[in-house]
Amino acid sequence: MKRKRVLVTGGAGFIGSHLCEKLLEKGNDVVCMDNLFTGQKDNIRHLMDNPYFEFIRHDILEDVYVECDQIYNLACPASPIHYQYDPIKTGKTSVIGALHTLGLAKRCHARILQASTSEVYGDPEIHPQPESYRGCVNPNGIRSCYDEGKRMAETLFFDYKRQHGVDIKVIRIFNTYGPRMRSDDGRVVSNFIVQALRGQDITIYGDGKQTRSFCYVDDLVEGMMRMMNSRDGFTGPVNLGNPGEFTMLELAEMVIRMTGSKSKIIYMPLPQDDPTQRKPVIDLAKKELDWEPTVALEDGLVKTIEYFKSVI
Ligand code: NAD
Ligand code: UDP
Repeated sequence: MKRKRVLVTGGAGFIGSHLCEKLLEKGNDVVCMDNLFTGQKDNIRHLMDNPYFEFIRHDILEDVYVECDQIYNLACPASPIHYQYDPIKTGKTSVIGALHTLGLAKRCHARILQASTSEVYGDPEIHPQPESYRGCVNPNGIRSCYDEGKRMAETLFFDYKRQHGVDIKVIRIFNTYGPRMRSDDGRVVSNFIVQALRGQDITIYGDGKQTRSFCYVDDLVEGMMRMMNSRDGFTGPVNLGNPGEFTMLELAEMVIRMTGSKSKIIYMPLPQDDPTQRKPVIDLAKKELDWEPTVALEDGLVKTIEYFKSVI
């Protein structure tokens, strides 16, 4: 068997490290590129001895020269506190990162997959969200560096396909959780679990009635790989997420019950432009990729709680 040379940008991050692991299991030759802004060597330490795994510490804002057959472009901080830490760099990472990886794909004739996001729908007026919905995004708010950066990256992907015939695939990832999220990640699942395990107050932003749909990381990675290997000409964008929908209050109560925590719920101000509802329509993923999530929220939370117990 000829091993495919696969580049994963952002490969030392939460999702990227799970993807690298699965790609190696399937017999690929994996190059993981990351600047370790939010990623960690600990996420990939268990892969370092594998001769078909290489780690390159590199910032995607610099040119990329790696011979490869497939590229998964994940480099970009994903948690609001991390992408808002240096919003100008976040915008550059999405846009220049897309340009650099697309340029590489063009030169190497590689197939390239972009990790886009449900954030392209902004605070959606249509519920649930199909891929055809064009979104309701604030162009100059505190989330815009991420949302508009990812929207521009999608534009560049489709322009590289139209103008240069690059073989693109675009997925829109909905809230994904699981082991290897950072304990200081700031996203809701990791925050609630870490707070519950430490006996700290559980911080609900706003009234807790806003909804999200949570996908376990193993399900997502399976969908990503199916998309990468999907039929020629199927570019997406395709939603990848779990259609189960929960309020943040329901999530907080579930985490408190499952951890047996004595933590109390407290309410804090809702950040600007925080979407009120989010749930994917996944008919396209079902049809084209024969994919749908298999891990229920409660089962995924069991594994994630076990992970955080082992690291904090
Ligand atoms: P993460 O922060 O754990 O991973 C992002 C990785 O990119 C990190 O390892 C980080 O160090 C690296 N990175 C950031 N800027 C970089 C740069 N300039 N050069 C090189 N590497 C850089 O987040 P994640 O949850 O694993 O997200 C991975 C991808 O999936 C991101 O592109 C994110 O936008 C997308 N996504 C994630 C979710 C989710 O719920 N987890 C939802 C939608 C989209
Ligand atoms: N959230 C919360 N408490 C926290 C962290 C987040 O109530 O400690 C809320 C946040 O306001 C949002 C939802 O949980 O409504 C999901 O937030 P997250 O940052 O995980 O993802 P995103 O908003 O990007 O979907």
